[in-house]
Amino acid sequence: MKVFYTPKMVADSESFSPSAAKPKLAVESWLTHGFNIDIVEPSPVTPEQLYRAHKPDYVDGVLTCRIPNGFYNRSKAVANSLIYTSGAMLDAGKDAILTGGFACAPVSGFHHACWDKGGGYCTFNGLMVTSLDLLTSGTAKTVGILDCDNHYGNGTDDIIKCLGNEDRIIHFTTGKSRFEPVSFLKTLADRIRNLYSACDVLLYQAGADPHINDPLGGWMTTAQLQERDIIVFETAREMSLPVAWNLAGGYQRDANGQILPVLQIHDNTMKACLTGH
Ligand SMILES: [Zn+2]
Repeated sequence: MKVFYTPKMVADSESFSPSAAKPKLAVESWLTHGFNIDIVEPSPVTPEQLYRAHKPDYVDGVLTCRIPNGFYNRSKAVANSLIYTSGAMLDAGKDAILTGGFACAPVSGFHHACWDKGGGYCTFNGLMVTSLDLLTSGTAKTVGILDCDNHYGNGTDDIIKCLGNEDRIIHFTTGKSRFEPVSFLKTLADRIRNLYSACDVLLYQAGADPHINDPLGGWMTTAQLQERDIIVFETAREMSLPVAWNLAGGYQRDANGQILPVLQIHDNTMKACLTGH
């Protein structure tokens, strides 16, 4: 399975969120585990591709560091990384459709980015940049987004509403309502079958921040998150639904201040994707 990664998507976000630095650590962890993945360099998106999901003045302002990014700073390094994080998601989406299987973009920082502003560690909405490119190019007729981060994907809803394409982008975000974990997992497979049966690809945000110990989470145990991932990938397999997935949030630290607990959750997602358990 392809993982669209380049060191160019990594930047120090100068913030509480480790998300901008996480791609490198996640990929290193997967390689250490010996997971059967091919690392592929993603293409950067163009400003024109970003304009499809965002107000052009906002895109230009962020890329030239005139407007703060979603980390509320004007870091040139973050600005430079953003065309690769969205680019990786788009390449993963295209590859999943091409192969009819799964692909991964080890990136975060998408779903709070609205049409004309960022926030909550999100600058450009790579889920929407990807969806709109796949739709505009005719690669997909309908795109599904399953956002299992702990938080509401308000930016995704905002852009869908601004552009009026609710019919072609089917968005479900678990952060909008508080589900009881056991009943949520019990109904997840049916929810996926019902929502996404007409979709050509599913973009899956496999957030690590719902974890019970996450400072911004508190929803699911490690075993429940594993079950979530297994259900998503196995249901998609059964439906022959291509999946492009990414990391989304995760803020736990261990005693040494490292993000090992977050990486372990992403390891479990990769294992579920590759092996089905
Ligand atoms: Zn989150």
